[in-house]
Amino acid sequence: MLVDTPAPFAWNYCPVCGASLECRDDGESARPNCAACQRFYYSNPVPAACALVADGDKLLFVQRAIEPCKGLWSLPGGFVELGETSEEAALRELEEETRIRGYGPNLFGASTQPSQLSGAVIVMGYWVERWEGVPSAGSDAMDAEFFESAARPELAFQAHRELVAMYDALPDPLKAGRTSI
Ligand SMILES: [Zn+2]
Repeated sequence: MLVDTPAPFAWNYCPVCGASLECRDDGESARPNCAACQRFYYSNPVPAACALVADGDKLLFVQRAIEPCKGLWSLPGGFVELGETSEEAALRELEEETRIRGYGPNLFGASTQPSQLSGAVIVMGYWVERWEGVPSAGSDAMDAEFFESAARPELAFQAHRELVAMYDALPDPLKAGRTSI
């Protein structure tokens, strides 16, 4: 159970037709409803995906160029967009932020955390089997570098700290295939 979850964005008007919403029972509980569109509005966690790219025992991190947490480090990643899978989102964000192209994403864990903007975010972690390129700062990034396990930067987000710990706990044979191309 999440603690200190911010109140989700309150729906007051229908984003489709602009009518005032009223709370109605959808069969489970009272939800904002538009009578004209005959539609309920739900507040759900927002899905995000991040990529873990290894070079030996080094992991790839990016230094954020935008708020929140500008200047701090994180795993490459971002929100899943409509029309793509979470795997595609992880690889797209990886390439956008670090110029590294990843292949063979493997889901190894997820972390649900409170979010000021959306109430809660679910971050899915994928480690990539193969990758190519030289890391350099792309969009939303000031820097992109591999760090030895003993010299990792402090991470901006609790979800990323949890995912790195989950990744570290994976059995080595599972990660043995990881390599650069
Ligand atoms: Zn409506």
